[in-house]
Amino acid sequence: MKKVFALVDCNNFYASCEQVFAPRLRGRPIVVLSNNDGCIVARSKQARALGIGMGVPAFEAEDILKKHHVEVLSSNYALYADMSGRVMETLSTLTPRLEIYSIDEAFLDLTGMTEDRQDYGHTIRDRVRKWTGLEVSVGIGRSKTLAKVANKLAKRSDKADGVLDLTDSPWLDRALEQIAVEEVWGIGHAGAKALQGRGITTARALRDADIAWIRKRFGVNGVRTVYELRQMDCYPIDDNPPAKQGVTVSRSFGQAVEQLEPLCQAVAAFVTRAAEKLREGRQAAQHMTIFVMTNRFSRVGRYFNSETIHFPRATGDTGELLGRAMECVRRLFRQGCRFKRAGVILQGLVDENKVQGLLFDPVDRARSGRLMRAIDGINNRPDLSIRWAAQGLEQPSWQSRCCRRSKRYTTCWSELLEVS
Ligand SMILES: [Mg+2]
Repeated sequence: MKKVFALVDCNNFYASCEQVFAPRLRGRPIVVLSNNDGCIVARSKQARALGIGMGVPAFEAEDILKKHHVEVLSSNYALYADMSGRVMETLSTLTPRLEIYSIDEAFLDLTGMTEDRQDYGHTIRDRVRKWTGLEVSVGIGRSKTLAKVANKLAKRSDKADGVLDLTDSPWLDRALEQIAVEEVWGIGHAGAKALQGRGITTARALRDADIAWIRKRFGVNGVRTVYELRQMDCYPIDDNPPAKQGVTVSRSFGQAVEQLEPLCQAVAAFVTRAAEKLREGRQAAQHMTIFVMTNRFSRVGRYFNSETIHFPRATGDTGELLGRAMECVRRLFRQGCRFKRAGVILQGLVDENKVQGLLFDPVDRARSGRLMRAIDGINNRPDLSIRWAAQGLEQPSWQSRCCRRSKRYTTCWSELLEVS
């Protein structure tokens, strides 16, 4: 049976996540900055329309940001990861075969579907909007590459209203003409240069290119891209059990934290929990991001900062994670800031049995594994528990004061659901 693929992609994902929870930002130009408030990594539709570039250092754009009263935000990866999870969960109710391609994109397998595809695209859009508040665009085609093309055009055209089906479409030639060759999925900057040198400047020209030359110049992957543009699918949906992409533990503090020690203890508690979750999934992490922030809605003294640690060998050892996390917190801490939230994100997850070893590993891995299993075993018993000294011994001051209330997952900004 001929295959049908859909690519669902969130529009202006980071900026839209911010707008969902802050109505005053809706319909306004906003930009989101990268770690340490360096570069512009996301723009709302209105900010795009002002001609603000992607990846531009914030200080270079200062004039235009000021002139148009653009709202400038630090990135809140904990929020984006959470919203991404919600979008993917929503999509999984619409198809049994789903491949999460990036934080804001997924491929869906629509092969054999009897429903009208255009209508189904709108069903997807409506459900994601209703359940998460986010707008998505849906592109449909006979291959992943064509689904990508359709998605780009769905975003560009007002008439498409967010959904474009190019499956066996009489408009396919015209659609491919509107896509520059460098926009084709898998054609990098260098590839585009070489193609343009041959006069191949659009996706249509690439589709009609001489396959022998493509093979010689770009190898089998180049050939696959051309076949994909010819409606022959070469890349199947990869829906392997959704091995977790990351583990996030983050909380708001019941009262602002201004001292280093309680901030360290809070982060230690989050790291400990994240490491437990990691081991529950029998995984180890290659990267760890620690972030701290003040109240993001206060007008004065706003501060957000994060640091990412790369481990030479993926680890799930709480002690090892804690040691590096505490170094981070000391560097991220600023005297005089009223910290309102902190968290940890573990990424680059790998199967704990398939960790690439180190030739000279300072840690005895077998011993560390046994220790972690022993601790997890004890903490799984209802009558016993042990904890890391870094978490502190007293009732932490940062914990929410309403200890008995369950979390206001959907109504309270500071108590969003904790997700992995
Ligand atoms: Mg997107």
